[in-house]
Amino acid sequence: MFASPEDIQVSTSNRILKVLYLNKLKEHEERLLELQDEKIIYVSDLVSCSHKRVLRRHYPEVYFQFEPVPFLGTLAHIGLEKTLEEQGLKIEEEFQVPFDLEGTIYTIKGRVDARGENFIVEIKTSRSDQGIPRLHHVLQLQLYCMFLEVEEGILIYVTPSRVAEYSVKRTDIDLRTLVEETVMDLRHPRWEWECKYCPFLKLCGYAVKKPKNR
Ligand code: SF4
Repeated sequence: MFASPEDIQVSTSNRILKVLYLNKLKEHEERLLELQDEKIIYVSDLVSCSHKRVLRRHYPEVYFQFEPVPFLGTLAHIGLEKTLEEQGLKIEEEFQVPFDLEGTIYTIKGRVDARGENFIVEIKTSRSDQGIPRLHHVLQLQLYCMFLEVEEGILIYVTPSRVAEYSVKRTDIDLRTLVEETVMDLRHPRWEWECKYCPFLKLCGYAVKKPKNR
């Protein structure tokens, strides 16, 4: 016996999809105030286009995404983190560091995927393995190492054609310059490919029209 076409129909209740959507929306809504706080700088802000942070503060709702690729990325993170936790690593460790820029105190916030003894792990999922390890991921990991005072960062890529691991050494980073560029909105975009993937592309006066592929 095989199912006939009459046995299958598009769900009108979307019972499961709706649960997933509402979970994701709740997560976003809980962060809405923080996303608009000008004194908060995420580590990811320090390695991204500075104008994205400006637009995120103005239009935090536009930042919400419920799409297949990021959703797959979230699932891969959950699965890998569970495996690492079973190996004794601490997962999803959050940290925050005060930073004084000309008398204004900012809070730099970050969250590492997993932490072991003197190393941290960052998991990246991507549609392609082109250009890995990517510079902004390496810089982000080096910042994590610096803030958490660990000597090694491990970068794991999961892409449709490759699963690869890289070891990144801790190095001193010019944090003041990164914070200045971010707060004063001096790097827009920071990377030539960034606009193509930016949720604020249609709202941005700085958007680069013909970025190259990553
Ligand atoms: S469209 Fe480009 S310049 Fe504008 S916020 Fe996005 S990444 Fe930055």
